[in-house]
Amino acid sequence: MSNEFSDRESSEGVLARSAGEMAERASVVEAHELIMAAQNIAVLSGAGISTDSGIPDFRGPQGVWTKNPAAEKQANLANWMSDPEMRRNAWRNRVQNTKPQPQPNAGHRALVELEKQGRLHTLVTQNVDGLHLAAGHSPEKVVEVHGTIREAVCMSCGDRMSMESAIERVRNGEEDLACYLCGGIIKSATISFGQSLEPESLMRAELAAERCDLLLAVGTTLTVFPINEMAPLAVASGAKLVVVNGEETAFDHIADAVVRQPISTVLPQLVTLLA
Ligand SMILES: [Zn+2]
Repeated sequence: MSNEFSDRESSEGVLARSAGEMAERASVVEAHELIMAAQNIAVLSGAGISTDSGIPDFRGPQGVWTKNPAAEKQANLANWMSDPEMRRNAWRNRVQNTKPQPQPNAGHRALVELEKQGRLHTLVTQNVDGLHLAAGHSPEKVVEVHGTIREAVCMSCGDRMSMESAIERVRNGEEDLACYLCGGIIKSATISFGQSLEPESLMRAELAAERCDLLLAVGTTLTVFPINEMAPLAVASGAKLVVVNGEETAFDHIADAVVRQPISTVLPQLVTLLA
């Protein structure tokens, strides 16, 4: 009896799996057709596109903040501005970090293809890793709504420098970087907790959502407000919505196609023009 039961269960399991695989295949074909038909594509990307470049999710079990609570403190604007000792530690850690720079993966490169095809309106990213630009997009196509770790900025006058040159200054003996122009406190050009997003970034994201004919949301669960609002805004403006993410997102229910496969594998397939 018990054998019979488990046999039946396992054959149903096989059926369910293959039905699931067929549905997955169908969603890839559907997403590909929608992307091929679009002329003016806006992309919204999140952490999921960079995990194959070895960048951990900040809050996951392997995340930077879970493993290093000091990093979370540093990511708070009020702490950064008020605690010189913490800033000195943070700069010292950056100098001592000898890990190789993460590199763009096939997912990032697939989105560059969209730009080469002349069909990319704007790429809005929640990531601060700079990998979209490193992959070769024109800077004017990319909006980094949460800033970038590849630059540092004076919190008083807004003067910017590359993170490399900031780190070089620490290596040469400066401990707590102050702006050469105004003496202000220097911080990585990421948006910290307690810091407002740039109004210009938000405006560009909103315009992209309104003007695109398709929004491709990649590697984001679409839960971070306000940038996740691009999804309903695009749909309300008449655009198609294609979601590519490893897990469920907040706007799957209004999407025209949902693809739940590894991003760096499936994204190149989705943007390839048929010969
Ligand atoms: Zn300054």
